[in-house]
Amino acid sequence: PVVLGIETSCDETGVGIVSDGVLLGDALATSMDEHARFGGVVPEIAARAHLHAITPMVRHALDRAGLRFGDIDAVAATAGPGLATAVQVGLAAGKAYSLSLGVPLYGVHHLAGHAAVDILDHGPLPARCVALIVSGGHTSLLLLGDLARDPVTHLGDTADDAAGEAFDKIARLLGLPYPGGPAIDRIARDGDPTAITFPRPMTGPTDPPYRFSFSGLKTAVARWVERHRDRPLPVADIAASFQEAVADTLTRKALAACHDHQADTLLLVGGVAANSRVRALAEERCRASNIRLRVPSPRLCTDNGAMIATLGDLLAAADISPDPLHLSADPSAVLHGALLHGPH
Ligand code: ATP
Ligand code: MG
Ligand code: FE
Repeated sequence: PVVLGIETSCDETGVGIVSDGVLLGDALATSMDEHARFGGVVPEIAARAHLHAITPMVRHALDRAGLRFGDIDAVAATAGPGLATAVQVGLAAGKAYSLSLGVPLYGVHHLAGHAAVDILDHGPLPARCVALIVSGGHTSLLLLGDLARDPVTHLGDTADDAAGEAFDKIARLLGLPYPGGPAIDRIARDGDPTAITFPRPMTGPTDPPYRFSFSGLKTAVARWVERHRDRPLPVADIAASFQEAVADTLTRKALAACHDHQADTLLLVGGVAANSRVRALAEERCRASNIRLRVPSPRLCTDNGAMIATLGDLLAAADISPDPLHLSADPSAVLHGALLHGPH
């Protein structure tokens, strides 16, 4: 099937067209610059930007794919989680395309999209794997089966901040530009990751093995900065040391989950999976443990439309019943499976 995917959960208006696990065309607009002076995404601004961008992005993706509206067999749109007003725009657009083209609609879970997108880079997912989803709003260790049919098993989530959120907050603390993740990644290349030993939260012998916590790490960095106010801050060293603490914690727990659950594949996805140190350390540790690492190319790690189209392609190919047009968005939907509202 040829599937049109629409993603508007945050500040990216993403459209992708995928058929049988192959990306035919995509387009991405972002309102990132409009949020920069507020230090974070402003929902109303994001929603209005989606409204302006959605139709042009769909046309753009179709053009790039060399397709017409009549070629679309199904539509998938993010129905949650995300900023309520932002999700609504993409879901409403998805419903409109579904109705006007007379094709099925799938309201899908954004995080399942983050996982599915790796199919575009590395082919079908294995029957079973451990997935670490690390993004701006989530940090979850999961056990995945057939993504189209099976429920997802949560091994552990974050007790407080998400990993991406920690990157964004530390960047702000260090006076780095928004968004913080890519800025820290860049400046950390000039720093020494062993300069400062920041805590590896939740890694003690009595801590829950798959649970994360990043607010304490954020406080530890803030305290260090506070204590060294009298000298010029070694921003690159702080960034590299913080990044090392996050990469170490994430990969340690992910590898432990693979061992404990006899999984031979680790799927590392979400915006923070674009981080160069997280990728390198995951590669190093997976190689040492004989675990196959799957991590999408950086541009597919952050929000995009191709990930939603990939998920729709999986659902349509598996003959999963589509959603009714009165399907509602859920801004805080927990990940149970590919479809936001579960199988019908
Ligand atoms: P969610 O997917 O949980 O709803 P989101 O959609 O906002 O959240 P993503 O687009 O998946 O999140 O990822 C954005 C996050 O990834 C931001 O917090 C950003 O700082 C972080 N990020 C992006 N690139 C990098 C990088 N190179 N290093 C570290 N973090 C990064
Ligand atoms: Mg974004
Ligand atoms: Fe995301």
